[in-house]
Amino acid sequence: MSKWHVSAVACALAAVVAQAPAAEAKRYKGDLSNRSMTSSSSSGTSRSCLTSSARALLGRIESKFGGVQIISTCRPGARIAGSGRPSRHASGNAIDFNAPRGKKGEIIRWLASNHRSGGTMTYAGMNHIHVDIGHHFVSLASR
Ligand SMILES: [Zn+2]
Repeated sequence: MSKWHVSAVACALAAVVAQAPAAEAKRYKGDLSNRSMTSSSSSGTSRSCLTSSARALLGRIESKFGGVQIISTCRPGARIAGSGRPSRHASGNAIDFNAPRGKKGEIIRWLASNHRSGGTMTYAGMNHIHVDIGHHFVSLASR
């Protein structure tokens, strides 16, 4: 947890990880999945519950920007706040994640121009990025 809050050193490390392509990213992913296996299987951050399209999208993001911190994946019965409509989190077609430190803007710009098979969303007052599979949209909270 605390590693996400270490500032200068983490920045330098993130830059190094980004330059070292597959090996570092894979090692990092392995670390994350080991951790989630030891915690509750229904914690809502599992990658295995995602649809193959959602997992492929996550894979594209991580191969480009390095491992991300998963906030939430599948939430059975989830509804879109304020609308009552079923959320794509309910069907394993949405991922909430935190970008590696300093890369949020870069990832959002990349998603806005490359993720055409679903949505990209950020929220005022929340740090995570929401991506989903479905109709294409980009909805960014103003700063
Ligand atoms: Zn979400």
